[in-house]
Amino acid sequence: IIASYNQDEDNINVVVRVRPLSDKEIKAGDDMVVQFPGNGQVMVDAIPGGPGGGQKARLFSYNVVFEPAATQEDVLQYSGMKRLIEMAVEGFRCTCFCYGQTGSGKTHTLTGPPGLAVPYSDDHGLVFRSFVYLFQLLQEHTGRTFVLKASFLEIYNEKVIDLLNPGTCRKPLAVRWSKKARGFFVENLFTVDCEELDDLMAVLEEGIRNRSVGRHNMNDYSSRSHTILSVHITSEEPSENGVFISRFGKINFVDLAGSEMTKKTQSEGKTLEEANNINKSLMVLGYCIASLSDPKRKGTHIPYRDSKLTKLLADSLAGNGVTLMIACISPARSNIFETINTLRYAARAKKI
Ligand code: ADP
Ligand code: MG
Repeated sequence: IIASYNQDEDNINVVVRVRPLSDKEIKAGDDMVVQFPGNGQVMVDAIPGGPGGGQKARLFSYNVVFEPAATQEDVLQYSGMKRLIEMAVEGFRCTCFCYGQTGSGKTHTLTGPPGLAVPYSDDHGLVFRSFVYLFQLLQEHTGRTFVLKASFLEIYNEKVIDLLNPGTCRKPLAVRWSKKARGFFVENLFTVDCEELDDLMAVLEEGIRNRSVGRHNMNDYSSRSHTILSVHITSEEPSENGVFISRFGKINFVDLAGSEMTKKTQSEGKTLEEANNINKSLMVLGYCIASLSDPKRKGTHIPYRDSKLTKLLADSLAGNGVTLMIACISPARSNIFETINTLRYAARAKKI
C-alpha cells in the first residue's frame, strides 16, 4: 500500500544549528568557540585550564550543520524536513524536534519570533514553512482526498495540558494506551480540522498564545516544558479494483524543555521534581533515538513508558517513521559546557 524506502538506512537525521552571537554577548565581549571545518562537522575549542579544562578541541559529525548565517528557509530546504513531510503524506509517522539549552534557538527555529501571523516574513520558522510545503504536496496528489487535523499540547512536570482548548487549559489530561490504535493517546485532546493553510497557522498561533497566558516569565517557563504540535494526515485513494487505499500519516513538531535543566537539581521542592522529570524525559528520549539508529539494539527493551514525552512520540520513534533532530547551540564561549553537552547528546543519537 505504502511507497517503499530504505528505512534501515535513514530513519533518523541529526542536524545542528548554530545561532549567531547575540548583541548582548557581543557587548559583553563573549567570543565564538565553534568552528566549521565542513562536511557536516562542528569543532569546539579546547577549554583552557580550570575545571573541565585542559582538554583538546573536539570534532563532531552530523548529517548537516547550519552555520549562524543560515536562514530559516535553508533549514527547511537542507535539514531533511521536506522528506519527513513527504513521508507523512504517504502514511508514515514522523517527528521533528529541537533540542538544546535555553536561549540556543529552538523556538526561533521552529516558530520564529513571537507574533508572526501575517504578513509572511523571512523570520517565519520551520513549522510554518512545513505547512506551506505540505499544502503544495496535497495539491499535487489530485487523485486523493485528504483530511487534516491538528493538535497542540504541552507537557509540564509530567502533566499534559491542551493548548487549544481554553476550557480545559491548565487542567491536565490523561495519557492512555489504546489497543485499537495500538498506541498511546491523550484523552479528550482537542483536535481541529484544517482545510487550508490559514487553519493550520491559526492552530500554531492559538497554541502559542495559550501557552504564554498567565506566565510572568515566559522564558523561564518554556525552559521547563515540552510542546508537541501534531498534524494528522489521513487520505483515501481509489485503486484499480475499486478498493480504497487509506493512509494515516502524522508529523510532530516538538519544542523540548531546555537541556540545561537536567543538571539543575540542586534546588529543592517542586523545582527538583521538575528538573528530575525533564531529566528523565530527555534521557529516555535519548535512549529511544539511539536505539533507532543502532541495529544492535533492535529487540532490546526501550523504556518508552518512562515519560509522557516518549509515550506520546512512541508511535513515530518506534515505528517506521522518520525522525529529525535539530540540535541548537550557542557559539559563545560563556555557553561552551552546555554546547558540548548538546553536541554529545546529538552525536549519540546517530553515529556518522
Ligand atoms: P530557546 O527556544 O532555545 O530557548 P530562542 O529560540 O528563544 O531559544 O532564542 C533565544 C534568542 O536568540 C531569541 O531572541 C531569538 O530570536 C534569538 N535567535 C535564536 N536563533 C537565532 C537565529 N538563528 N538567528 C537570529 N536570532 C536567533
Ligand atoms: Mg523556547
